[in-house]
Amino acid sequence: MNDDTETTPQARSGDGGAPAGTAVRPRPVVPDPASLVPVASQVDAVSAPAVDVVTALYASTDLSATLREVAEGMAHRCGFHSAAVSLFRSSEELEFVVVTGDPDAEEALRGDITPTSEILGMMSQALDWGPLRFVPHDRALQFAEHIYVGSEDEAPHPRAWRPYDMLMAPMRDARGQLLGMLWLDRPIGGLRPDEHQRASIARHVDAAARSVVVALEQHRLAEAVRLAGATRRVVRTVSAQKHRLPDLVQAVQEIVREGFGVDEVHVLVPDAFGWPTADPLLDLHEDAPAEPAETPPWLEPRTALVLGELADRCWKQQRSAICSAQRSAPGLLGSDEHAHLVEVLAASGCESLMVAPVGTGNEVLGHVLMVRCRRLDWSDEEADAAVDIGHDLGRAVLTARARQREEEASRYREQLMRTMAHELKNPLAASIGFGIVMGELLDEARPGIEPGLAQQLDRSLAGIGRASDRLRGIVDDLLAMARLERAPSLRSLTPVDLTAVVADAVTMASGQAAPRGIRVLGTLPDHPVMVRAESADLQILVSNLVGNAVKYSYPDGEVRVRLIATQDEEPSVALTVSDDGIGISVEDQARLFEEFFRSANPEAASAPGTGLGLAIVKRTVERYEGRIEVTSDPGHGSTFTAVLPGV
Ligand code: ADP
Repeated sequence: MNDDTETTPQARSGDGGAPAGTAVRPRPVVPDPASLVPVASQVDAVSAPAVDVVTALYASTDLSATLREVAEGMAHRCGFHSAAVSLFRSSEELEFVVVTGDPDAEEALRGDITPTSEILGMMSQALDWGPLRFVPHDRALQFAEHIYVGSEDEAPHPRAWRPYDMLMAPMRDARGQLLGMLWLDRPIGGLRPDEHQRASIARHVDAAARSVVVALEQHRLAEAVRLAGATRRVVRTVSAQKHRLPDLVQAVQEIVREGFGVDEVHVLVPDAFGWPTADPLLDLHEDAPAEPAETPPWLEPRTALVLGELADRCWKQQRSAICSAQRSAPGLLGSDEHAHLVEVLAASGCESLMVAPVGTGNEVLGHVLMVRCRRLDWSDEEADAAVDIGHDLGRAVLTARARQREEEASRYREQLMRTMAHELKNPLAASIGFGIVMGELLDEARPGIEPGLAQQLDRSLAGIGRASDRLRGIVDDLLAMARLERAPSLRSLTPVDLTAVVADAVTMASGQAAPRGIRVLGTLPDHPVMVRAESADLQILVSNLVGNAVKYSYPDGEVRVRLIATQDEEPSVALTVSDDGIGISVEDQARLFEEFFRSANPEAASAPGTGLGLAIVKRTVERYEGRIEVTSDPGHGSTFTAVLPGV
């Protein structure tokens, strides 16, 4: 037994030897030929069964600690100085997550990335050693660019392990899907394993691979559970649909930061007016002072442009992009862009970032940027969950934008209607006033005026009165419409007695209907029927329906107004207004509740109106979560039924 201590990994750690890998190929050890001992002597010091490792895996929640344990155990049992575990990422990259056996190389190579295509190329050159693949030095040279070799020295022995030799074992899941690779390097004896040793190594590597697959599966499940919480909260937040865009952005940022365990999150979506709705004043960096006012580097024009274009490409491929000094998001990021982002990361003291596009359909609306300052790793589950969040957020952004536009339009409409109403009110009041004065003057002067002229003046004054009434109707309708633009807070409303409101409307309409011989009959409960609504809204609703019934009735007709309260599953009230008037054609019924709709039917058009009454009725019932229905028989009458929730 020749100098066992000299060949332990610890004793070798200072010699510059590097751990295993492709991009992570270790620097070979140059053993003293006299010290060469058969690998089998280490290999046969066989190990605990895999099942123990599996049990240990379940106890561990830290994947890289578990993988390190497996790699170290495997190296030891197989008689190698170095071992490594690398995993295929959905970004078409193989990432070295654990490198053991040489602290320097570990430091330099952990997190190293090799494009999957390169690895597959290497595998195609490998000799098939059962579950193992061996790429001998001469064949491996063509991949030299991707292979790190610390020193090119080798032992003077025909079976010597050569600097570019690579020994690896692909790991697959139960469905045969390639998950990653196990690597062994620098046999302690300095020789390539012989056939007997290979069989033994294969057994250990196989056990290690099974352990890693179990650990990965467990980690994947744990990740899925962890991220499901975050994505569920995002879905809940975005589907609550009550948020304005900036509030939505802030809520999602906080959920993502917590759920993903990242240091910074920036949701960047231009708002409806093209300006970025981000968080320049809301830096979520853990250690940031409470009121940072600086623009985050991610919003600097060049960086924002790179990230924006990256998000576009990500959306096309429905992927997230991960970027760090080691990871360059192949197929998504150009080398200049990568270099720029790495610079920005370094300048902000961070390690890595992930970008997920926010979009819907073909439209990219922005992106979510997550930054890690002390960690490099991003799991595939995180990358997938981020894509899902980008979809949910995309839909919510569209909804929030539409709502924002709707609110703007609603404010504009309200302003316009109020202004019009006020502009009309003054000349209206003046013409009513002048009409009254002229009437009084006419009465005083009547004895001296020629009867024909007096009659003409009476007719003109009556015309002024009718025109004024009409204008007053328009002003009232405009003000009623303006009121409806602003939603009341339903819960804060005190119930109103609808029976009293209807009784008043029936009395008033009877007075107006009497000159045309029309009767207005009310069938009302003998008790209050309470509805949670603003009293003014109810008055407008009822007077519009009853007023229309009278207006569109034939002389000597009959209008029936009925109020019924029901207590079925939910309490509700139904107000029915029927007339036996001109009726409404089926085509007109379809458009009746549109703003400014007036029927072309000459019988209807001859009555004065604005075409706003029924639009007001519809918006009023909807405001209180009720509905309005109409049935009609043209030439024979109509029935309108408004249903509102009771109390
Ligand atoms: P307005 O009565 O001021 O024209 P409304 O919005 O109240 O406006 O009604 C819209 C149209 O619906 C009316 O122009 C009329 O053609 C029709 N309409 C409404 N109520 C009745 C009714 N009870 N009978 C017949 N037609 C009606």
